Amino acid sequence: MNAELIAVGTELLLGNIVNTNARDLSILLSELGINVYWQTVVGDNPARLRAVLETARARADLILTTGGLGPTCDDLTKQIVADVFGKALYFDKQAEADLRAFFCIGTDHSRPMTENNLQQCWLPEGCTPFYNTCGTAPGCGFVTEDGKTVMILPGPPKEMNAMMRHGGMDFLRRASGGQIWSHNIMTFGMGESHIESLLREQMNSLQNPTLAPYAKEGEVRLRVTARAESAPEAEALMSPVIAMVRAQLGDVVYGVDTDSLEKTVLELLRERGACFAAAESCTGGLIAKRFTDLPGASAVFRGGVTVYTNEAKTALLGVDPAVLAEHSAVSVPVAMELADNVRERLGADYGLGVTGVAGPESDGLHPVGTVFVSLSTPEGETFVRALELGERSDRSRIRTLAANHAFDMLRRRILGLQVI
Ligand code: ATP
Repeated sequence: MNAELIAVGTELLLGNIVNTNARDLSILLSELGINVYWQTVVGDNPARLRAVLETARARADLILTTGGLGPTCDDLTKQIVADVFGKALYFDKQAEADLRAFFCIGTDHSRPMTENNLQQCWLPEGCTPFYNTCGTAPGCGFVTEDGKTVMILPGPPKEMNAMMRHGGMDFLRRASGGQIWSHNIMTFGMGESHIESLLREQMNSLQNPTLAPYAKEGEVRLRVTARAESAPEAEALMSPVIAMVRAQLGDVVYGVDTDSLEKTVLELLRERGACFAAAESCTGGLIAKRFTDLPGASAVFRGGVTVYTNEAKTALLGVDPAVLAEHSAVSVPVAMELADNVRERLGADYGLGVTGVAGPESDGLHPVGTVFVSLSTPEGETFVRALELGERSDRSRIRTLAANHAFDMLRRRILGLQVI
């Protein structure tokens, strides 16, 4: 099933608001194995909305609109969708009851409800209504005679997301024929194009389950999605594909359905009763922040030190000023001292260190994106990864990637894999 998302609202075209509904819906649909092929934005203009719907009808199996469901005169989506798909509207009593309850009609604290609010209770004949749990306008879904699935959802993101959770996703599961299960294979350390070249044949040929990559902040995830009658049947379809991906990609796979690299590290350390500490320069505390976002971090994380200047590196971690003067702060020897010294001073099993140039200005010695990530181990070895994260990368991306590499080095060492 392929889908087109249509966001209705002139303020989207003016740039007053960002189309977060398209992002949220695309993520939800991909969880169901539905491909979003088009995202369209159209203003509150009946003729253009009609034209956009006609185009979507001709090319997509699932057409999903957001916005334009409210009580005001520019909220025309429902009427026009019903016209385009040849549906009459009926007055939905449950929607009316919900609306009256929303305005507390019949109670001491009722709020004024104008007649135009009742417009929202008209829905296309034969639809599955989605009642609004945090606003007033109901949404709905229906399947047309020519087999197109149509969903109408409200614009406010909170209402739209709640509606998908309460009814919308179930409707789609049924409409897309059979149930959908999926697993995410998490990888770090191999680019998307490299992964694609290794798995291209399978990605193109697999039908059920399907296999699709998506890249996020230096990581590539592979989603395996199966359509089946039951969970065991879906698992039976997916497990050989997961095994095949693991065999092809080896130890760049760090987990299946794991939330993040740091979560994997947390679990590995906890299993072994080990802990780590971090000394951060260019990541400015990002490793500590990401790790302490995880519940249970205190069991395995001793602490982190942000040592941004040379003086701080020396004062807090005893980095040798002579080494700093000879090699500069962004260097292998300083990275090694950071990891070794933080490990020793905080009494941790492992020490992580990061020093680099996050940009946008170079330090005069190294290009932007030069980062050294170090790992000090209980066995007395210290490893350094020298990274060139790209002169065109922005600060945020460089810092995120550097932190990812730090977690990856720790993961690899704990598992006895090659670290650099
Ligand atoms: P209401 O009942 O509030 O009028 P509605 O379904 O008619 O809801 P709109 O009037 O189109 O929706 O939009 C209401 C608000 O929802 C917008 O002002 C905007 O803040 C938000 N919104 C609408 N569409 C989107 C979108 N695609 N992405 C993010 N926010 C949106």
